[in-house]
Amino acid sequence: MLNYKIAIVGAGPSGYFTAQALQKAQSDHLKFSIDIFEKLPTPGGLIRSGVAPDRQKIKTVSKVFEKIAKEDGFRLFANVEIGKDISLKVLKDQYDAVVIATGAPDSKSLGIAGENLSNCFSATQFVSWYNAHPDFKDIQVDFSHETAVIIGAGNVALDIARMLLNDLKDLECTDISEHAIPIFRSNKIQNIIICGRRGPEHASFTPIEIRDFSKLSNINIKIDSDEIEKAINRVNLSLSTEKDLKNLELLKTISENQKDNSKKNLELLFLTAPIEIKGKDKVEEVVFELNSVENDLISQTGKKFSISTGLVITAIGYETNYFPGMNLINGRISNIAGHIEQNLYVVGWAKRGAEGLVGTLKSDAKDVVELLIENLNQPKLSIGIPRSLKPGHKVVDQLSWERINAAEVVAGEIYGKPRVKFTDRKDMLAFVDERDRSRPNSN
Ligand SMILES: Cc1cc2nc3c(=O)[nH]c(=O)nc-3n(C[C@H](O)[C@H](O)[C@H](O)COP(=O)(O)OP(=O)(O)OC[C@H]3O[C@@H](n4cnc5c(N)ncnc54)[C@H](O)[C@@H]3O)c2cc1C
Repeated sequence: MLNYKIAIVGAGPSGYFTAQALQKAQSDHLKFSIDIFEKLPTPGGLIRSGVAPDRQKIKTVSKVFEKIAKEDGFRLFANVEIGKDISLKVLKDQYDAVVIATGAPDSKSLGIAGENLSNCFSATQFVSWYNAHPDFKDIQVDFSHETAVIIGAGNVALDIARMLLNDLKDLECTDISEHAIPIFRSNKIQNIIICGRRGPEHASFTPIEIRDFSKLSNINIKIDSDEIEKAINRVNLSLSTEKDLKNLELLKTISENQKDNSKKNLELLFLTAPIEIKGKDKVEEVVFELNSVENDLISQTGKKFSISTGLVITAIGYETNYFPGMNLINGRISNIAGHIEQNLYVVGWAKRGAEGLVGTLKSDAKDVVELLIENLNQPKLSIGIPRSLKPGHKVVDQLSWERINAAEVVAGEIYGKPRVKFTDRKDMLAFVDERDRSRPNSN
């Protein structure tokens, strides 16, 4: 029987789906020992730290991850950052194959003046803050101004707007971070403006997200119906064979059925590019230039306007993180069908860029695993990874993670929440029992 050692870097959905595909490919003659490395003390990736707290149904995919983790030959090494605690080279030497599943954690920046002013956040910062990511627990957020501007016309922008417009009671019963609750309680935001640099036909919302939004009660959604009509005409006149009008039709319906009886407003502006964020110490104003679109090409018009605001969030896309020797193209790791080089592979958002819902990652991981298996040679003889870690480095293995998980769930039960998340690494690492290392098959 052939037994191969596979390392997966990143315990988000694509990391787990890769492990699952490997497990499913096993037979009487082929076995895989799978080690999954995660830089945070908790697995789950964006399911834990990205997906909005009011989307608990999507978070139930974690139950699938826990089933994968229970299979023989699976080991979790959380609180181990590849590139810092262990080098990628060590993994490549020790394992028969290494799969990068690190997602796309870094928000793209606008590259305009004022982006570093206080109360201007990237989506990574803002979303991680309300989702209790330990690296973003201390950022100072202020919701005291009536107007917030979200730059970017995609699902993340809609998620953030929905979070800001939600009733507090609908958030308090979720796993939103405890530090965010008092800030949401003091929320004075009445107007949210989402701005896209391109036309409505280029917005990367998925229809389901737009539909969900239109169902929010007590929100006036303002969209210029002429703008949508013009976009529909442009799409109809274009030579492109991929004429998807679903989004535009939904936007049109919303634009024609605007309510104006609520205190809270959401406005969608298209063809508006931010050129400067102004403020003394804190965000006060965003200056925009109007764009125009012709033959699918965007150009500047020179016409400017500005919006007074106290909070700016940029949601213009994400980039994957860099490992020495790898090429990044458009925010993803350069690869051919998931193969990077030698015994190195990539899956998920690190492979394809930051697009696609969780469900789409499964078949992607399966395809890469098929290629990986085709390329395997004789299994390597290697000493195993724990010796590469510094003495005393606390590894959160599956058992320690289950203790953290149980403690969070129990803490939430009293308040009728799915869980109360830890935000401090120290508190999470307190669940690591060094004696566990003596267990057979332990890390
Ligand atoms: C704000 C937001 C909301 C979303 N909402 C939804 C939704 O409602 N529904 C839906 O279906 N999809 C949603 N998505 C998309 C979904 O989250 C992604 O499709 C999915 O998480 C991508 O999975 P991944 O495993 O490729 O990356 P990630 O989920 O980002 O997982 C990558 C993991 O790798 C770890 N890692 C990174 N670098 C290292 C390293 N050097 N060493 C070790 N570990 C490392 C990270 O900590 C992380 O745990 C949302 C995304 C965002 C950003």
